Amino acid sequence: MSSNLKTRSIMDSQAPNRSTRIINGESSNVLNWDDVAFSWAYPKYKKMLANFWSPFEINMSQDIKQFPALSPKEQEAFLKIIGLLALLDSIQTDYAGKVADYLTDSSLNALMIMLAQQEVVHNHSYSYVLSSLVTRSKQEEVFEYWRTEPTLRKRNDFITNGYKAFAEDPTVENLLKSIVYDVILEGLFFYSGFAFFYHLARNQKMVASSTMINYINRDEQIHVDLFVKIFQEILQEYPEYETRELALFVEETFKQAAKLEIDWARMIIGNHFTGIELEDVEAYIKFYANVRSNQLGFSRPFEGYRTNPLKWIKAYEEVDLGKSDFFEQKSRQYTKVNVVDNGFDDL
Ligand code: ZN
Ligand code: ZN
Repeated sequence: MSSNLKTRSIMDSQAPNRSTRIINGESSNVLNWDDVAFSWAYPKYKKMLANFWSPFEINMSQDIKQFPALSPKEQEAFLKIIGLLALLDSIQTDYAGKVADYLTDSSLNALMIMLAQQEVVHNHSYSYVLSSLVTRSKQEEVFEYWRTEPTLRKRNDFITNGYKAFAEDPTVENLLKSIVYDVILEGLFFYSGFAFFYHLARNQKMVASSTMINYINRDEQIHVDLFVKIFQEILQEYPEYETRELALFVEETFKQAAKLEIDWARMIIGNHFTGIELEDVEAYIKFYANVRSNQLGFSRPFEGYRTNPLKWIKAYEEVDLGKSDFFEQKSRQYTKVNVVDNGFDDL
């Protein structure tokens, strides 16, 4: 069972504007938001549009003062997490484009383009934060962590291999499996990193950087939802792919992913910080592995772990950034201060 996916054509004058199928379908490729095949596409579009943000909105001045006062361990964790996120967001931009090529629906292609654009903004935010806080050479070192840190490398290879399998052999099965890796990337692999940043913010440290992480977190939630929808639509059109083998693959992949994320959390968070227990972070990761598998429509890989063990984190995850200034920043000025000859001031 391995049917190849056809790419969406630039224009098909014989096909209707409203697509006939999510993959391997017919579509003129003309986009009319009032006449699209999937009723959830337009609300997603509106949401993504409303959530638009840019790193330039975040005033780094307080963080610039605080960063040198963080403990060496805090500084190290801070930079390693940024280094991790930089790689994941970079490949994510490209993955979204590759998936888009095979979606035979112009509205879903549009959503993939918006998603990819948001990943570009996420990458910009890492450059923005680093260029505010550290020297240019340190920044370059952080952007090499994906290559030089073995734990990070192992984790990232896990995702990139899944993506490559789809890119090199675009079948229905490989697309479905790659979406499982996507949901892990966007819905699980960022989470111990997020927890660390929220922990800092909770202690009134690096609040601007954490605000930025919060924006990224909010975007990623929508990205996960979007890929879950695509996954479900594909299975609806191709029920023959909803097999026991797929269920086992999902379970096994989430277990491996949680293990890799826990290894990483052990290295990055360990027992170095007061007020954040490694045990809780591990439970938090297993909880999210359960949430994501369940969202995809499969059984939970970890017995128990039905509630979020990091109760305090909820306030950070669910904050409505549009309405309240949760982090109590006095103002968000469109300036970045203390740009010391790092070349990023003219971005
Ligand atoms: Zn992202
Ligand atoms: Zn994303």
